[in-house]
Amino acid sequence: MIIAIDGPAASGKGTLGKRLAHHYGFRHLDTGVIYRAVAWALMAAGEDLHNEALAVAAALELDPEKFGNPVLKTQKVGDGASVVSAFPRVREVLVNFQRQFAADPPGAVLDGRDIGTVICPDADVKIFVVADPRVRAHRRTLEARARGEEADEEAVLADIIKRDERDQNRAIAPLRAAADAHTLDNSNLDIEAGVRAAIAIVEAVRARR
Ligand code: C5P
Repeated sequence: MIIAIDGPAASGKGTLGKRLAHHYGFRHLDTGVIYRAVAWALMAAGEDLHNEALAVAAALELDPEKFGNPVLKTQKVGDGASVVSAFPRVREVLVNFQRQFAADPPGAVLDGRDIGTVICPDADVKIFVVADPRVRAHRRTLEARARGEEADEEAVLADIIKRDERDQNRAIAPLRAAADAHTLDNSNLDIEAGVRAAIAIVEAVRARR
């Protein structure tokens, strides 16, 4: 079984996907980390994020062993990810890695922006996670501060709005809900309640089979 989790509020800390995968005994891939790793490869080398050829080269050399690097979680790398992820050739290079991950048994949860629309259009369950941008800004600010980063909530909100806009309006694999996705609004749900709501969606889909 493949569960696709997309949406502007899909990842946060990757918690929802991770928890859902744990619940079902599936593997989990937070696909945002892939684009973050590509961006960081350029940033660490002092290269321009808008250099498509270098971004493609970084995508080809992707090393999943480095996905745990804490710098990938930072706001600035997230911004960089939203720049390199708009390059069609970067996305092309990363499709197979993601599809392979999804196909391996016993099942997988992938979260990102285009899982239900492009990477796994035949996913068994698609969940599109949304939340009020103000609530997301508040959560991201708390997460950043917990990591010891400085964060100004208004600046985080402006960044979220800018990034959503870039993700929604890019020419390739724009952020949008698949026609068969179930929307989950977690503005007023804490992590536990969000996980329960996601499990309820999966169970409802299974019950209809
Ligand atoms: O989810 P996360 O904040 O880690 O994603 C960082 C950026 O990577 C997103 O803003 C988006 O531009 C890009 N991304 C993407 N497709 C995915 C996952 C992330 O384009 N499947």
